[in-house]
Amino acid sequence: MAHTLTPNTSPATPVAVQRPRAVERQVQGQATSDGAGVKLVRVLTHDLQRRLDPFLMLDAFGTDNPGDYIGGFPDHPHRGFETVTYMLEGRMRHRDSAGNEGLLVPGSVQWMTAGRGVIHSEMPEQEDGRMEGFQLWLNLPAGKKMQAPWYRDIASAEIPEWQGDGVVARVIAGQSHGVQALVQREATEPLYLDVHLQPGRCFEQPLPAGHNVFVYVYRGSVQTGVPGGEQTVPRQRMAIFANGSDADGVRLTAGDEGAKVILIAGRPLREPIAQYGPFVMNSNAEIHQAVEDFRAGRLA
Ligand code: FE
Repeated sequence: MAHTLTPNTSPATPVAVQRPRAVERQVQGQATSDGAGVKLVRVLTHDLQRRLDPFLMLDAFGTDNPGDYIGGFPDHPHRGFETVTYMLEGRMRHRDSAGNEGLLVPGSVQWMTAGRGVIHSEMPEQEDGRMEGFQLWLNLPAGKKMQAPWYRDIASAEIPEWQGDGVVARVIAGQSHGVQALVQREATEPLYLDVHLQPGRCFEQPLPAGHNVFVYVYRGSVQTGVPGGEQTVPRQRMAIFANGSDADGVRLTAGDEGAKVILIAGRPLREPIAQYGPFVMNSNAEIHQAVEDFRAGRLA
């Protein structure tokens, strides 16, 4: 993707991370299907919601077989969190009950805040060819779960990029090396980067020690961790970083084939999480209310 909005203040090399975080564990995603039979890999699964607070889910989809995606995600509800969809290949049409409609194309992002409720569909607008991308679920703080829904399509050319030596970081949320994304969130301070590294090149991202951080490798491989104790993270694998108070960020070095990764970090909410399918609230009573509102046609 050659869409560049690079500030002329970019340094030639990344701001140094002095004490990189260790890898706590690597996680292999779980193959599953969702919607009307869309095959995907659930990378951030339910059991990791507390560990990776404020993130609730990450799905990676990528297939050349239309049978794996053609059913799409017909009308379904959401309440209590935000969905961030990032397309690498393919076209997906979104329509929702708040009257929003948008077309996701390669390199674009759709940011949807479900808040108190939306009903939406996410349907492929292609019958063949490759479909690839990610959907991340970001939690809302208790006080914002019932806010009005919000929606924004972000074209590929609107995603700012930081360019280093053999490295490009597309800044989807938060800020990296002085480059600000269009979307910022005060409560959770999400950072969402798509980092492309040439073979052997290094990317460093300073991060507050308390923020939860993970990387998912979707091309090539990276070496990461504490110097001298680095681990190789291969393609289709997530690495969760330790929250050591002495560490000041993460360092990623691409293997021989280069690498493409998404790097995601955020400030944990530390609030109770109650989930029932597409509803994520703080208590079972709120979940029952969501189900009742949906059945009664009051959700959206
Ligand atoms: Fe959805």
